[in-house]
Amino acid sequence: MTNYDAIIIGAGPNGLAAAVELARSGRSVCIYEANRTIGGGARSAELTLPGFIHDVCSAVYPLAAGSPFFSKLSLQKYGLEFVYPPASLAHPFDDGTAVVVHRSIEVMSESLGRDRSTYKQLFLPVVERWNELAEDFLVPLHFPRHPLTAASFGFRAIRSAKSLAESTFTEDKTRALFAGLAAHSFVALDRFATASFGLVLGALAHAIGWPIARRGSQSITNALARYLMNLGGEIVTDKRIDSLNQLPSTKAILCDLTPRQIVRVAGASLPAGYRRKLERYRYGPAAFKLDWALSSPVPWTAPGCYEAATVHLGGSFAEILASEQQVSQGKCAEKPFVILSQPTLFDPSRAPNGQHTLWAYCHVPNGSSVDMRNRVENQIERFAPGFRDCILARSVLAPADLERHNANLIGGDINGGSQHLSQMFLRPTFSLYSTPSKGLYICSSSTPPGGGVHGLCGYYAAQVALRKSLR
Ligand SMILES: Cc1cc2nc3c(=O)[nH]c(=O)nc-3n(C[C@H](O)[C@H](O)[C@H](O)COP(=O)(O)OP(=O)(O)OC[C@H]3O[C@@H](n4cnc5c(N)ncnc54)[C@H](O)[C@@H]3O)c2cc1C
Repeated sequence: MTNYDAIIIGAGPNGLAAAVELARSGRSVCIYEANRTIGGGARSAELTLPGFIHDVCSAVYPLAAGSPFFSKLSLQKYGLEFVYPPASLAHPFDDGTAVVVHRSIEVMSESLGRDRSTYKQLFLPVVERWNELAEDFLVPLHFPRHPLTAASFGFRAIRSAKSLAESTFTEDKTRALFAGLAAHSFVALDRFATASFGLVLGALAHAIGWPIARRGSQSITNALARYLMNLGGEIVTDKRIDSLNQLPSTKAILCDLTPRQIVRVAGASLPAGYRRKLERYRYGPAAFKLDWALSSPVPWTAPGCYEAATVHLGGSFAEILASEQQVSQGKCAEKPFVILSQPTLFDPSRAPNGQHTLWAYCHVPNGSSVDMRNRVENQIERFAPGFRDCILARSVLAPADLERHNANLIGGDINGGSQHLSQMFLRPTFSLYSTPSKGLYICSSSTPPGGGVHGLCGYYAAQVALRKSLR
């Protein structure tokens, strides 16, 4: 076996990002990936019918488009193109209207009635100082580089989404919009720091936009892989690593794995105390994922829903709070909050002429075996009567199926671990990317800044490995 400076286990966005950063620094790297295809949470496949390209996991990319690391790589030269719909997202209601989040805060806030100025007051400072905030919040815990900006953001971000929405907004529709944004946390919305998800994703909707990737999420992965191979990096697929003994000798091993897998793969080389900390790491609720091949676009009642790729289906503020609360109590909501993406409205390359793909998931308790397909389809039908008549085929990925597709999705948790406050900045342990075992590092979304396709966990882990093992 060839010897490499560094080996990465797992070719998800963070594994690829770590490999790219190491290769950019002149180190020889090889990635071992368990699946036949690379990309982990950023892969596309014909899940339903031939010619219909679906995003198997992630689909919407404010974090990738806003990633300071990906921006450095000029991935457009390697085939990545983000497609920006006219609006970032839409949130329909039972009265046939929708709040539509346009890039312009001015345009958007005009539609918010009595919340027009409070919405602007809340989001404008975050949007205007997005670059400063990204430098302080999309990085491992440190003393802020922009203390005043960080303090004024942190003061609001530390609150629960429920209390921030109730104290800031008057209109139920604005509160519901904020709850939908914050629900991406997978944490009950009355918990501390859930407001941070609403603020960051809302700010990104204005500062960056919520784009999709042309031809599907695989194009993000392929661009990273081409970049890596140009630098001489190697990728071995269909090679699951069950023990570090399977690997050739190397100075650094970076695991794009979550703590439970790290214990399995590297447990023997880890001190008992650290192993126990990894074993105590908490996983979050799961996703129940559906994809459809459609004969026509979703027949939305609210015209605004045609302006965005992403649509949040949950109705009122109270309904979204209740649905997320139930999940946190180990129950499945009758009317789940659904995150939906309709990429072919803006990227027709993914389906045969005139036909469409649709992607959606709702939150369920970790490991849940409850079949949510009817409940999710009922939520779509509620805001788009006649939706079921458009269905040509569907794919259902329950939490166990997701984990079979990608071993990192423990019990269907898509964020590499719960994102509640105590695991938000210090994940998976106080040592973050490092482990007590010499040359062994963690680069997955179980490290800061957590879930999402941004490659920053991989980038920071690579920086630590370069400093400690690869000088
Ligand atoms: C249904 C769903 C929807 C999502 N939606 C979005 C979204 O819209 N936008 C967004 O930004 N993020 C989204 N995410 C989250 C995003 O996909 C993840 O946060 C991201 O992929 C994490 O990247 P990673 O590299 O840390 O891990 P992963 O992408 O999970 O990659 C880990 C890789 O390691 C491999 N692996 C695991 N075990 C082994 C082993 N023993 N040996 C070798 N290889 C191994 C896996 O096969 C996989 O390829 C979604 C995820 C899911 C599942």
